[in-house]
Amino acid sequence: MKLRTLDAVGDVAGRRVFVRVDYNVPLEGGKVADDSRIVATLPTLRELVGGGASLVLASHLGRPKGQVKEEARLGPVAERLGELFERDVGYRPTDGVVDDEVRGRCGNLRPGEVFLLENLRFDPGEEANDRGLAERLEDLADAYVDDAFGAVHRAHASVAALPALFLERGRPVAAGRLLEREVEALSKLRGEPPRPYVAVLGGAKVSDKLSTIGALVDKVDALLIGGAMAFTFIASEGGEVGTSLMEPDRFDDVLSARKHADERGVLILLPQDVIAAPEIKLDAKRQTVPATEIPKGLMGLDIGPRTIAEAKTILWNGPMGVFELEPFSAGTRGVATAIAGSAAYSVAGGGDSLLAIRRFGLEDGFDHLSTGGGASLEYIEGRELPGLTVLEAGR
Ligand code: ADP
Ligand code: MG
Repeated sequence: MKLRTLDAVGDVAGRRVFVRVDYNVPLEGGKVADDSRIVATLPTLRELVGGGASLVLASHLGRPKGQVKEEARLGPVAERLGELFERDVGYRPTDGVVDDEVRGRCGNLRPGEVFLLENLRFDPGEEANDRGLAERLEDLADAYVDDAFGAVHRAHASVAALPALFLERGRPVAAGRLLEREVEALSKLRGEPPRPYVAVLGGAKVSDKLSTIGALVDKVDALLIGGAMAFTFIASEGGEVGTSLMEPDRFDDVLSARKHADERGVLILLPQDVIAAPEIKLDAKRQTVPATEIPKGLMGLDIGPRTIAEAKTILWNGPMGVFELEPFSAGTRGVATAIAGSAAYSVAGGGDSLLAIRRFGLEDGFDHLSTGGGASLEYIEGRELPGLTVLEAGR
């Protein structure tokens, strides 16, 4: 897939550029608690402003479902962006994303000036991929740049209908530098990566990642499964998992994934031992037990000590245990440390997985940390992502 990039947009001096960013960041006490998604967009913003453009930025935050939610306003984001970008960032808390004043402020932007729109998902048109909303947004700028990798797997107005409309009207559209980098890094896993190719999947729910498991079984040499999703696998084959989180309605799915893996000679590795406790609490009494014989009343909350294979390519998505609590974080730390220390081409994605990697200070050990959890998995699965298709060169 070849994307149109900023190189193809041409001279942006004196132009207003609409940049779709992914500032879906955690807020705590009216402040941005983790600004890594904002930091990740700075190269694109700097490049555009350096070229003499003014910027109209737009993002979603949370799931306000087409309604105005005070706690999902982008004020704190505008403030943090201003600090990081060292520029004034215009922002106005509106109820409908685009109103007359917003139109006026965007219309009057001078080169180097930046305006951040209100949460796109306050408008029901965003998730409905509504052309009307796309028209109101298109009116605000002369060119379109998408740097919101975390949103490209959604057919939403700001990533699908809007760039399509720009193209229709003969105006430039392009992928920003972050999007470009994501696609470049992840395309190595989508094609034929150096083998052995090992994927490590974890997290709470197997149902979130069933399609990923299905697609990966066709690609990888080994699949390591940790986190709570391992218990659905173990229980489907008759193992005792106590009160561990699992999904009995997915037994058929995991059994058929297992069968398919066996036929292809793909190794599926499940935890041998787990750290179990009666409840998810810091001071819960823990014990290490065999993964298939968890005593009644105990739940598996972390994988036990184990090793990572000699891989050439590693994909990791989903923590191995409840890493948020120190007593159940060793499994995730162990896997993260092993991947970071291996010479393999290593990619990690998923909000919680990235949080864990940062908490352990292991960022430098990975070749690529994807800002898009769901988007990165769908891309690697080989699916078509609406927000990327529209940016393909030659359209
Ligand atoms: P990511 O955001 O990296 O894609 P997920 O959202 O799929 O990851 O899963 C992360 C969550 O899974 C974490 O909050 C973690 O506490 C939880 N989790 C992992 N293992 C277990 C377990 N054994 N029991 C309960 N929850 C678990
Ligand atoms: Mg998550």
